[in-house]
Amino acid sequence: MVPNKINGLIVADLHSHTRASDGSLSAAQLLEIAEARGVNLFAITDHDSVESVAAGRAAALERKVNYVAGVEISAQWRDVPIHVVGLNIDESDASLLAGLSSTRAMRTDRAKAMGASLAHSGIANAFDGARRHATHPELISRSHFARYLVDSGVCASNGEVFSRFMKPGKPGYVPVNWMSVEAAIALIHGAGGCAVLAHAARYDTEALGGVSSLISDFKNLGGDAIEVICSGHSPSDWANFAALARRFELKASIGSDFHSHAESKVRIGDLPRLSPSLTPVWQDWSIAQNTVFPNRR
Ligand code: AMP
Ligand code: MN
Ligand code: MN
Ligand code: MN
Repeated sequence: MVPNKINGLIVADLHSHTRASDGSLSAAQLLEIAEARGVNLFAITDHDSVESVAAGRAAALERKVNYVAGVEISAQWRDVPIHVVGLNIDESDASLLAGLSSTRAMRTDRAKAMGASLAHSGIANAFDGARRHATHPELISRSHFARYLVDSGVCASNGEVFSRFMKPGKPGYVPVNWMSVEAAIALIHGAGGCAVLAHAARYDTEALGGVSSLISDFKNLGGDAIEVICSGHSPSDWANFAALARRFELKASIGSDFHSHAESKVRIGDLPRLSPSLTPVWQDWSIAQNTVFPNRR
């Protein structure tokens, strides 16, 4: 047994998706890639689902990878849809499971409305097409519509689908009344986890005082951390969000937001380390202090 010291040498990737939401790989495949790429602290964070969490934990036991349970909750700040990642959660927490279940029901209603809206714009059968791309009828994401619209030749790329059909104001976009940021933070805290504001550079916050206004509210509502280094952020965003984490005394997280080899620009673990001037989100996690992997080959 070779002790694998990770304290001080943590290579974390704390944002990823499996087929349980809109990723295209299994939990075991993600853990295999994480280990191969030298990641030693990993989380699966499917949209509104913890279905793959246990499979990820079982796969991590076979590998030199420490693992925390995660989820990415669809929420909203005022009328802006945002994502709150929950890390190191107890995925069996009953309130969390109930909240995720209602959120998935909203996804189903939205997907039907998106299908109707696209049909109105001359694109038939999009709901059925998206449904065929999804693993579960209750977890249909805009990504599944995007895959259908590309497969059926309506658009050349996912990027084209999002800019023509899946953004606010476009024909396939249907707004949803997701849970509030407060509610998402409360569910994550109730499940013993850390609440992390995901990829904040991606939100349209301009009319509401900009992203610092969102981060200030997130902090005041009890949020724990923000993603600083992630695939949704450019290198200049890394510096801006590092400064925002320090200014609002929030911890910092890092994650590839990996979905699939074909669609994700950033591979698992393929991000720079967090600056030592930041407090990492895993600071107080006992799993991140482990120095041996007793069960690993
Ligand atoms: P949903 O949670 O169903 O609203 O879908 C959001 C998902 O769509 C995100 O998690 C990404 O996987 C994907 N997505 C969002 N914006 C884009 C974009 N501009 N291009 C490609 N995929 C995107
Ligand atoms: Mn996604
Ligand atoms: Mn997201
Ligand atoms: Mn994500």
